[in-house]
Amino acid sequence: MTQPYDPNNVFARILRGEIPCRKVLETEHSLAFHDIGPQAPTHILIIPKGAYIGMDDFTTKASDAEVADFFRAVGEVARMAELVETGYRVLSNCGRNAHQEVQHLHYHVVGGRDLGRMLGKPRD
Ligand code: AMP
Repeated sequence: MTQPYDPNNVFARILRGEIPCRKVLETEHSLAFHDIGPQAPTHILIIPKGAYIGMDDFTTKASDAEVADFFRAVGEVARMAELVETGYRVLSNCGRNAHQEVQHLHYHVVGGRDLGRMLGKPRD
């Protein structure tokens, strides 16, 4: 990733409390909240509190404590949402080809219905 982090992206504004979210979990380094446009009965986003655009800068710049906290939060969210028994999907869109809309790292945890196989076909 070469572009600088935009401190006015929507998730940065949520972290600063400038816009509301439906919080699910908050830890020292991570925040989880319901997606505003759910694509399944359960659709929760987990973000690091630090200013990371995607996996590239998160895994090169974040501390071990931040990385561990984040991945433990992803697992905890799935347990809190009672998705473990039925199964769920964890995904993160990073960059242009993945159609990342919000330029602050986020993992989607989706579940509550059969999610089909993993990838749809490209549009073109
Ligand atoms: P992505 O394409 O992976 O960048 O997805 C961004 C996600 O952020 C989408 O699923 C949106 O519905 C979600 N989103 C955008 N704005 C908000 C918001 N204010 N609160 C919660 N979720 C949001």
